[in-house]
Amino acid sequence: MTRNSRLPGFSKLSAEGRLEAIANFAGLERVELEPLASPDNGLPQEIAAHMSENNVGRFSLPLGFATNFRVNGRDFVVPMVIEEPSVVAASSFAARLLRDGDGIIATSTEPIMTGQIHFPEPPPAPVLEDCLAANLPELKEALDRLHPRLIAAGGGFREARVRRLVDPEGHPLAVVHIHVDVRDAMGANAVNSMAEEAAPLLEAWTGSRVGLRILSNLPMHRRVKVEGRVPLKAGGGESAMDPDEAGRIVEASRFAEADPYRAVTANKGIMNGIDAVLLATGQDFRAVEAAAHAFAAYEGRYGALAKWRISGDALVGTMDLPLALGTVGGITAVHPAVKANFKVLGVTEATRFAEIVAAVGLAQNLAATRALASEGIQRGHMRLHARNFAVQSGALPEEVSEVVAAMVALGRSDLQAAEICLAEVRAKRGELR
Ligand code: NAD
Repeated sequence: MTRNSRLPGFSKLSAEGRLEAIANFAGLERVELEPLASPDNGLPQEIAAHMSENNVGRFSLPLGFATNFRVNGRDFVVPMVIEEPSVVAASSFAARLLRDGDGIIATSTEPIMTGQIHFPEPPPAPVLEDCLAANLPELKEALDRLHPRLIAAGGGFREARVRRLVDPEGHPLAVVHIHVDVRDAMGANAVNSMAEEAAPLLEAWTGSRVGLRILSNLPMHRRVKVEGRVPLKAGGGESAMDPDEAGRIVEASRFAEADPYRAVTANKGIMNGIDAVLLATGQDFRAVEAAAHAFAAYEGRYGALAKWRISGDALVGTMDLPLALGTVGGITAVHPAVKANFKVLGVTEATRFAEIVAAVGLAQNLAATRALASEGIQRGHMRLHARNFAVQSGALPEEVSEVVAAMVALGRSDLQAAEICLAEVRAKRGELR
């Protein structure tokens, strides 16, 4: 059966109703999603205690699902863990705009990660280069032998290259980069162990001492490109965009492309979406963040990751991103809520998963840029922030909606306004009694 991620009325349902809708969408039994609703938030203490050190308990954040996503012709609802209001709503909204342009089209490279073997006092060129070339088959055999399961999955060592650098004091140094196809793993452990295995071999072949041997968190050869189109009014479509609005989005994009001060905020918006999916799926979000920002500055100047232009009768957004994600390894088979979220996503290949994550990043950028270029971000976020202030002011669950409505009518979203509105709501309720 074809899955349809347009779930009208989803946001109006109760949490339990939403969970049932997600189970229906994904063709799962409700019980399979139990970790997402359980009192321990899908992470029993006995599992948490073994994940990291000096453990005292667990720490919760809200989990929601973004709807409307279509990536490469297939529909997805996407789990997002985030404390910031409006991110899940914005993703779902932008994904809906992008559906009219046939959703997001994503293409990926092979999942190649890089390991670094560092020579602080390098042998002169071409000694290192020649040694590496002469011993490449032996190196490949030694490294592949370490990971039979990775080889069985179709991955393994692919190639090695020498990079020669000069440190800030003018001393030469060299690095051997090993490229490893890590298939469905993030690959940190696999590549680290390969780099450590390669080091004594390279020392023996070259007679030079190795310094560090470690994964690089800049996976320049593991990339996802996404492209999304929003039809303009003239072109039609359910949620076609006004050409003036599209023009303002292009202006905003050019600003971010020209100015690092703006680019970092635009990229932060992209990472709002991406990090939320990474948290929900147990990924190494630190690695992805580090890579995204290094990539944004790779040409020597920090720039915008996403770009929007008008092409024909559509607003077209593009983004290229290095993404090291795993559907195996890490905590993917350990954390019950992570496992449930992967069931909902219905992807087992890491490259397909990375395409969804990049699509969420592009959608998030569209939503944020559109809001900024039209009404401004604060107005759009007001209702959502007002909820937090209403709760902070002491409003009971049954009072929150009324307090928020009063705050919106007042045109303010701050704690003092929430307190004033709560007092008004209670006074009104008292009068009615
Ligand atoms: P891992 O070592 O837990 O699992 C990967 C292993 O799974 C592979 O080596 C392979 O033996 C096996 N496997 C089975 N089926 C596979 C398939 N289809 N494709 C690929 N491998 C398959 O995981 P990892 O991805 O090597 O490491 C990820 C973890 O390492 C993350 O939790 C991350 O936080 C952590 N880590 C990160 C860094 C860093 O980023 N610098 C450093 C150290 C550790």
